[in-house]
Amino acid sequence: MNTPLNILKTVFGYDSFRGQQQAAIEHLISGQDALVLMPTGGGKSLCYQIPALVREGVGIVISPLIALMQDQVSALLQLGVKAAFLNSTLTMEQARGIEQQLLNNELDLLYIAPERLTAPRTLELFSRIKVALFAIDEAHCVSQWGHDFRADYLQLSILHERFPTIPRIALTATADERTRQEIIVRLKLEHAPLYLSGFDRPNIRYAIVQKQKNPRQQLLAFMRNQHDGDAGIVYCLSRKKVEEIAHWLQSKNINALPYHAGMNSTDRQKNQQTFLRQDSVVIVATIAFGMGIDKPNVRFVAHLDIPKSVEAYYQETGRAGRDGLPADAWMAYGLQDVVTMRRMLAGSDADDAHKRLELHKLDAMLALCEQVHCRRQTLLGYFGDLLEQPCGNCDTCLEPVQTWDGTVAAQQALSCIYRTGSRFGVHYLIDVLQGKETEKILNFNHHQQSTFGIGKELDEQQWHSVFRQLVARGLVAINFEHFGVLNLIEASRPILRGEQQLILRKDNKTEKLKPSKTAMTRSRSNNNTLLWDALRAKRREIADDQQVPPYQIFHDATLMAMMEQKPTSLTQMAELSGIGQRKLDLYGKKFLAIISDFFSGDEGLSDTAAESIRLFRLGFNIQKIAEQRALKNSTIYGHLAEAISQGLLVLADVIDLSEPEIKQIEASILNLPEEQKNSLKPIFEQFEGLYSYEILRCVKAALQYQIDS
Ligand code: ADP
Ligand code: ZN
Repeated sequence: MNTPLNILKTVFGYDSFRGQQQAAIEHLISGQDALVLMPTGGGKSLCYQIPALVREGVGIVISPLIALMQDQVSALLQLGVKAAFLNSTLTMEQARGIEQQLLNNELDLLYIAPERLTAPRTLELFSRIKVALFAIDEAHCVSQWGHDFRADYLQLSILHERFPTIPRIALTATADERTRQEIIVRLKLEHAPLYLSGFDRPNIRYAIVQKQKNPRQQLLAFMRNQHDGDAGIVYCLSRKKVEEIAHWLQSKNINALPYHAGMNSTDRQKNQQTFLRQDSVVIVATIAFGMGIDKPNVRFVAHLDIPKSVEAYYQETGRAGRDGLPADAWMAYGLQDVVTMRRMLAGSDADDAHKRLELHKLDAMLALCEQVHCRRQTLLGYFGDLLEQPCGNCDTCLEPVQTWDGTVAAQQALSCIYRTGSRFGVHYLIDVLQGKETEKILNFNHHQQSTFGIGKELDEQQWHSVFRQLVARGLVAINFEHFGVLNLIEASRPILRGEQQLILRKDNKTEKLKPSKTAMTRSRSNNNTLLWDALRAKRREIADDQQVPPYQIFHDATLMAMMEQKPTSLTQMAELSGIGQRKLDLYGKKFLAIISDFFSGDEGLSDTAAESIRLFRLGFNIQKIAEQRALKNSTIYGHLAEAISQGLLVLADVIDLSEPEIKQIEASILNLPEEQKNSLKPIFEQFEGLYSYEILRCVKAALQYQIDS
């Protein structure tokens, strides 16, 4: 039966619908319009894909990005859904072929670019075929207010006029009310129900740390401690910094690739492809990167510069963890970020009203950075989503922030600005406060004014923290004519006069956050890493073969389910989330084989040897097995020798010696006098160390097996 739930199970391999999916799907199937607002990773695509399979005819999906279309179509083909796209990458002939398929009613889903859709030829074609529905993906592109406006999207109201009886569904992840209203009006969806999910992304852990002297070292430590070998995105503000950080990470043996608008499009495309197709690539990018990237297993998004608004932060961090598995949003932030951002906004060509708005948005972002309570509550609150309890999965929840009464320090800082004539930046001011007799201070005679040396109780970093918080809270202004110079403003007065108490954040000196003890890290621990690697290697092999990204074969979540459930039959395999009928048919056996090899016991062997043999059979070399098991290479050789002596392994699979060499060694072993039979030392010496003890041991084991059998 073609019920939505049935399709969910057999085609997509999932057990149950999430949130609003089912309601939206049923509404659409009944032939009515709908508007769907769900966060990234919420599962919007199913909301039109399933109705397109249930309803007669082809579902037409309008999508703004070619890369995204190709990705979706290739993922659908993997599921056995008849899908195609029409866009400018096709030759005339290919396009005609697809048109013919449409006329023959051979497609379930067709992805198309908006400009192509509204061409007379296409509209005419659509009037001759049976259309199941129109899905308008990334519907916020219709909004001029939003950030991804596409003029072609404005033409889409034509659908309603030309095909009034065909249901339409508009989908977006953009949260704000104004964009939402614009979508409704421009697409004429006033009557359509809104299917709205909360904007929380519970699997993302938010952390914002203070920049220390060397932020890129902080980044590297974060990546090494928590995301070794994971795919991630590092955002930087400038192209130059993108290049620098990418190269530096490469020098630290991280597979990092740059991406920014200044690169030529071939290189950019290439890096993007590599990021999509390979497992552990880190892309270092400006915000030019991201739209239309729906790689599900991005495990972290890191910011080395502050985004200009909470909206941008939410969107950029939202690219992590689409698959619902634990992911990190990590950011390093410091005073310099505030200075740079404020200056950039003040110096832009926009009119005053616009500038004010932008500065206002930046302030909200800064407030999030300086937040001493739950970050998620603040973040969601910004979008009008109320989270009743602190989330327990952000840095401030996990490592509560200490506060201190900074009133006196702030007074000292402000009067230092005043006494030195409002002409200096933070570094100089801190030197004065700490009473350093630098050449510059002596030149200006500032060692003789009253704030010199009054701030010795705080160290340099603590003073930085005070100034940063003063600036972030708008209690001190940055002078934009003289870069980095701090000025007093009206808001400084109450503090300076001691009329206002100021509670400040105590910055953590080091990042104490422990790596998340999540499902991911748990199941990847110890030996499981090797099974994980083996499963991933198989997935990679299949993906490369078909030239699709690995996640289109199976998601990480599905591979993890395999590790946890250890299916031993196709029936058990079919139970796992993400395995529908077609993938079961195509790949089920291959993955079962890997799992059964891994867990097959070898009778007669000690447990520890059996473990090594298992890994050896999965294709890991001795070095790797030793590393993984924290044993010596020689111990692993011992295990292999044990297996050889029982005929469970063949000598030639373990060592690389020619037949005559082996014969020679065997002869020497056989010729040993009785009392030396148990020792390898005489043989070792006989060949003057040419063959290691490990090798000799294996040869001897093979000989033993021959004699025994
Ligand atoms: P969006 O377009 O909203 O960002 P997607 O449609 O790409 O999200 O879905 C995000 C991920 O969640 C995909 O990997 C998808 O396969 C998975 N998913 C969607 N619906 C379900 C469901 N009901 N059960 C399990 N996984 C789901
Ligand atoms: Zn929290």
